[in-house]
Amino acid sequence: MKIQSIRGMNDLLPEQSATWQYVERTLALILAAYSYKEIRFPILEKTDLFKRAVGEVTDIVEKEMYSFDDRNGDRLSLRPEGTAGCVRACIENGLLHNQTQRLWYTGPMFRHERPQKGRLRQFHQIGVEAFGLAGPDIDAELLLLTARLWRELNIEQALELQINSLGTAEERGAYRQALVEYLGAYKNDLDEDSQRRLTSNPLRILDSKNPDTQSLLKNAPVLSDYLGAESKQHFDQICTILDNAGVSYVINPKLVRGLDYYSQTVFEWVTTELGAQGTICAGGRFDSLVELLGGNPCPAVGFAIGIERLIMLLDELAQVPDSVAQQVDLYLVAVGDVSHQAMQVAEQLRTELNVRIEVHCGGGSFKSQIKKADKSGAAVAIILGEDELSSNTVQVKFLRQERPQETVDQINLVDFLTKKFEN
Ligand code: ATP
Ligand code: MG
Repeated sequence: MKIQSIRGMNDLLPEQSATWQYVERTLALILAAYSYKEIRFPILEKTDLFKRAVGEVTDIVEKEMYSFDDRNGDRLSLRPEGTAGCVRACIENGLLHNQTQRLWYTGPMFRHERPQKGRLRQFHQIGVEAFGLAGPDIDAELLLLTARLWRELNIEQALELQINSLGTAEERGAYRQALVEYLGAYKNDLDEDSQRRLTSNPLRILDSKNPDTQSLLKNAPVLSDYLGAESKQHFDQICTILDNAGVSYVINPKLVRGLDYYSQTVFEWVTTELGAQGTICAGGRFDSLVELLGGNPCPAVGFAIGIERLIMLLDELAQVPDSVAQQVDLYLVAVGDVSHQAMQVAEQLRTELNVRIEVHCGGGSFKSQIKKADKSGAAVAIILGEDELSSNTVQVKFLRQERPQETVDQINLVDFLTKKFEN
């Protein structure tokens, strides 16, 4: 009996890993250009961290976490998102004392959801968080950074930025009351989830996918009417920076985000190309979280990108450049009893040239080796047989060019190939 993987937890196969590396590389370069630094923290944390940070009455904590007691009886959970662990690590290591931090992280997250397209149980995020900055400029910077990433990856035309403001806790509280009053009158017309949320987390009802609930919401009170002057100004300034930078956006008054800890700015980058799971990147401001987790008050704003969804979009739009494929430049064909010398020649080439070389191992006929060389994608095959060995030469065969095979002295091979790869 074969043992199968866990449902919703995928293997990343070699043919896809080049695309992942391309995305990660591109993002790492952009993050460096904005002076963000990487932070790494554990995949496993105390369950209480997520209960407190994400909120007890969220889908994540109520029904999606992988939690277990370890051998000491401590209650632990696989991280369902990165912000909680990032904040915990920052507080614990004193990174937030009178200083600002611009940070990013990447890695797997775990949620026990129903697996479907764009929804996995182990998925990957790249998260970015900025701490100690309260103004709208940093919120806008994060949006400019993401816009640059989409531009760099050639998918900007397929993504729409939606933004909203949740205001302060007080403003949101007043709105919540008005919303509950309004929806309370239609309680029996609400879907089951929304009925439950009416008491637990009413703002989430705005998020409901149920069309009847959505039509009830048409005449509901609107959050922006409850914002004070400061919240409005914060939001307007973000919009101005985006306007100046030529980044377009849509104000979505129903955008509330699933997690409890957000305040003021919230945003999502969404696409219509992937069906129901169209949110590629989501984030916002969470000024109260650091204090909630035991730190001194510290404003914060961040976002997370779902890497699987981002890569699905790249594939959907055929925007992965051909050069991303992990192809070798040279294939070393070793016919006969020459394997030690073949290794030596390849090692020398790797030292002196910036090339990728696959050395044929395991013997076999010339014909079968050339077939493999061709399949490897290499531009050139270096052929070493017993004749070449005794004359200190190699044969150079051009696999992608109409050009006759050449005999080259081994001592001239680096020069010869340098010229070849310069052309
Ligand atoms: P959704 O509304 O799609 O459930 P969410 O609000 O739960 O998303 P966040 O917690 O904000 O998502 O996570 C940020 C991003 O991580 C999402 O926008 C999405 O791209 C990705 N993501 C979230 N959950 C999953 C999952 N189960 N599988 C794959 N990607 C996911
Ligand atoms: Mg979700």
